[in-house]
Amino acid sequence: MEFLLEAGFFLPKNVQIPHMRPVLKRFADDDATRLRHFYNPYFRSFERQNKTRVWMDGKEYVMLSSNDYLGLCWHPKVMEAGAQAIKKWGSSPTGSRMANGSRGYHRELEEALADFLKKESCHVFAAGYLACMASISGFAQKGDLILADRNLHSSLISGINLSGAEVVRFGHNSAEDLASIIDAEPETREMFLVVEGVYSMEGHVAQLPDLLKVVNHDRTITILDDAHGLGVMGPNGRGTPHHFKLEDKIDIITGSLSKSMASVGGFVAGSATLIEYMRTHAKPLIFSAAIPPAQAACSLAALQVLQKEPEHHQRLWTNTKRYHEFLKGLNLDIWGSETPATPIVIGNREKAFMFWKKLLENGVFTVMSVSPAVPIGKDLIRSAVSAGHTDADFEIIEKAFKEAVKVL
Ligand code: PMP
Repeated sequence: MEFLLEAGFFLPKNVQIPHMRPVLKRFADDDATRLRHFYNPYFRSFERQNKTRVWMDGKEYVMLSSNDYLGLCWHPKVMEAGAQAIKKWGSSPTGSRMANGSRGYHRELEEALADFLKKESCHVFAAGYLACMASISGFAQKGDLILADRNLHSSLISGINLSGAEVVRFGHNSAEDLASIIDAEPETREMFLVVEGVYSMEGHVAQLPDLLKVVNHDRTITILDDAHGLGVMGPNGRGTPHHFKLEDKIDIITGSLSKSMASVGGFVAGSATLIEYMRTHAKPLIFSAAIPPAQAACSLAALQVLQKEPEHHQRLWTNTKRYHEFLKGLNLDIWGSETPATPIVIGNREKAFMFWKKLLENGVFTVMSVSPAVPIGKDLIRSAVSAGHTDADFEIIEKAFKEAVKVL
């Protein structure tokens, strides 16, 4: 939220927090917190939802920033699987997988995910954030070198920090920059390469063929976070490594179940040796409770639906194409997004806020992201299109954007 500190035009001079203990002053005086109280752009809460429609203060909106890419959160088979799992297993395993928390449903989901990703083994977590942290901190340690794309998600950065390894960031998706860093290291040095399959802020696809050409496969462990690629990229949504037919070159695939998998949770998949090693070396795995039954069952059902009903994946891409063409027709800058995760770069904070507000007033819910969360001059609206968006949704979306561009 630090961006709000610099957003002078936003600053509400008249917002006062009632008297509180002096020790709380630091938090009460925090500009970002005061601004949030005043403008309330985040943590908006809906009182009702039906598929792509949400209701806030009685008004209906089209949800255009959900990561429910395949629209499976409302699929009857997914919903039923969650309800049945609670009946069978109760609400929670209340413990770490290592201790009392392992159940048959974990194994079932892990085997299905490993099979889908064409990896030997998999481990599931209660959150994608934990999985991404474990995918790095479960392997890398002090003295190791991690080569990390400059635009990595916070969960991967947290994993790098937790590992204690040395990190060098290379230019986003730049094989040239990566090569120059590798060239400066001794030839025998073993390394980790960390990238995302699809970068959620930008909608960019990892330039895997180029990046993998410059790393030495024998000396590099490759880690790829496919949170936004699973269910989206590749044949049948098998993910970014499969999109490029480079799955054999990626040692560890991590990701989230809170996007195409219509649930909440995360996973790390790889060879049996790597996954067994991680099970005794990753703190986010050892010291945190296992994914609960309903969440695991929903993602397993979503994974099965994805494979049996290819129409969801096909519609996602039809909708993505339609949405991108419409935005380009309005001369909006989508930062070269090639995927359903679609930023609309506005370029300055004030206009980004006005644009976001206009969309909201016209019945479309998106999320605003401004610097320093994004580079200066890239202040943007985050949007994501879904297989669940209907023609009626698009009518509202298109009308709202035509109004919003008038503020530019
Ligand atoms: N990786 C990426 C690239 C993400 O975008 C996210 C979530 N936004 C995560 C990991 C974390 O996933 P989760 O929300 O399931 O914790």
